[in-house]
Amino acid sequence: MRYSAAGARITCPCCQNDTFHLDYKLLNTSGASFLGFDWANKNAAILICKRCTHISWFMEEPTSDN
Ligand SMILES: [Zn+2]
Repeated sequence: MRYSAAGARITCPCCQNDTFHLDYKLLNTSGASFLGFDWANKNAAILICKRCTHISWFMEEPTSDN
């Protein structure tokens, strides 16, 4: 699957591949909660490069281009 963020096609910064697997990670950590960062309890979208497995993190979910 190919993705875009803010209208720009996302390519892997490591291998220039443009197909990714979309997943989600909870940003909540005990340290962040202790410090009172509300945004730290959000889910972040992550794109895992299908070629080299580099992970790119996004606070807003990227758009899938199909
Ligand atoms: Zn890659």
